[in-house]
Amino acid sequence: MHVLLATSELNPYSKTGGLADMVSALAGALADPATGSALRVSVVTPLYRGMPAAHPAIEPTSWRWAIPMGDSLVEGRFHRRVVSPNLTLWFVEQAGFYDRAGLYAEANRDYADNAARFVFLSRAALILARHLPDPPQVIHAHDWQTGLIPILARHAHLHSGWANPPRTVFTIHNLAFQGSFAASSWGLTGLPADWLHLESALHFDRVNFMKAGLTQAHAITTVSPTYAREILTPEYGCGLEELLLKRYNDLTGILNGVDAVEWNPESDPALPARFSAADPAGKAHCKAALQRELGLPPEAGVPLFANISRLTDQKGSALIVEAVRHLLGAGESLQLAILGSGEKALENAFRDLAQRFPDQVAARIGFDPALSHRIEAGADFYLMPSRFEPCGLNQLYSLRYGAIPVVRATGGLQDSVVDPREDAARATGIKFTPYTEGALQKAILKAQALWKEPAWFRHIRHNGMVADFSWEKQSAEYVGLYDSVCRE
Ligand code: ADP
Repeated sequence: MHVLLATSELNPYSKTGGLADMVSALAGALADPATGSALRVSVVTPLYRGMPAAHPAIEPTSWRWAIPMGDSLVEGRFHRRVVSPNLTLWFVEQAGFYDRAGLYAEANRDYADNAARFVFLSRAALILARHLPDPPQVIHAHDWQTGLIPILARHAHLHSGWANPPRTVFTIHNLAFQGSFAASSWGLTGLPADWLHLESALHFDRVNFMKAGLTQAHAITTVSPTYAREILTPEYGCGLEELLLKRYNDLTGILNGVDAVEWNPESDPALPARFSAADPAGKAHCKAALQRELGLPPEAGVPLFANISRLTDQKGSALIVEAVRHLLGAGESLQLAILGSGEKALENAFRDLAQRFPDQVAARIGFDPALSHRIEAGADFYLMPSRFEPCGLNQLYSLRYGAIPVVRATGGLQDSVVDPREDAARATGIKFTPYTEGALQKAILKAQALWKEPAWFRHIRHNGMVADFSWEKQSAEYVGLYDSVCRE
């Protein structure tokens, strides 16, 4: 079988969050003969600024085309990287759309033409699917940016003579970002005006790309079983819960895995020392080096908490600021390392906290993948008090790197962390439920108590480091789903 994955970001070429990691690792696992699936896999994604220079293995091809969009004809060209006999990456060149400083936004403002930029990506994906000599049987589209692919394929089948288009699978990585645009943007799709209606992409008089994917794909997935249930409720469904309930039989939750090559403390080139579950001694060295790097006193006896994320309400960033301010004000002994960027007020709140408690708190505002590896390796605990979390990857990286996760019991956090109250023998972390500063404070105090019981601490840390979140296991679920949509 040949499957084409369509995505707006792909690690290591472009990344703002977990989507990039997930698609890259899934593609690798699906194509890997060692996993037993050995599918033919193609990935299509934009050629953003700086990518050809940073990745010389990406080569331009002579495959050029043009897409009529509104009143203009927009030209595009494919670039390609053949990673292995089973895996080919296709990059869509369109300098006017993608040669920019950001992927979706600059200075926290979305680009005004994002509808056009991602309609173009979706239409380019269909050109590829239709004209490859070995066409895919399945297109697997990810998040709103590629949500129009299923309806575009359906239209091409009915009205432009595409006899046998691929089946479509659509994955929700975050239902809170839906790609909602003025109804006039429908013209960019090239689809007839009467194809925009409540059973396709129309949502509150606007074009909603996420809704287009949810109504039109043959199968829908999201990135954890718990989030798949949560999004059927008004609290988590972001206004699409009734539609999702209608498509309940076609919706599956499949937990993401960890890219075991990129995230392996035994071989990670970003770390000052290597370690493993069997031999965790190097972790103490990583902690001391991180404390020095961040300007914190290198005290082995003080537990070091960490968080690496977009600074937003979703990630509970304000709860971290408040809980840690109170605990440090009350004289608790702990350190906190923060790496993130996002809402200005939250960036400033972390800077202020670090200024007020310079020996306890270090805040690095920015996006720094290598530092994120060193933080995972040096931290004792990892805080993730998310309001909602479709899957979450940092708690998985933390488990592997021996930073015990302290998480709110939601979405993928619920599915990937085991609290001692659930199963003391298999416990891997600490969970709490209310989305409040007080509940997070209590959970941090539990972590402090655990820190003072070294045998118990080592037991929980070891359980997490050996827990299996391999893509080998998870990708088999996608293969099963691709098979089933092709049989329907
Ligand atoms: P999201 O909702 O942002 O996609 P995930 O937990 O699924 O959250 O994935 C976030 C990914 O982005 C992780 O790989 C994380 O390490 C990375 N990341 C987030 N913020 C930063 C940052 N400031 N610097 C480096 N990596 C970051």
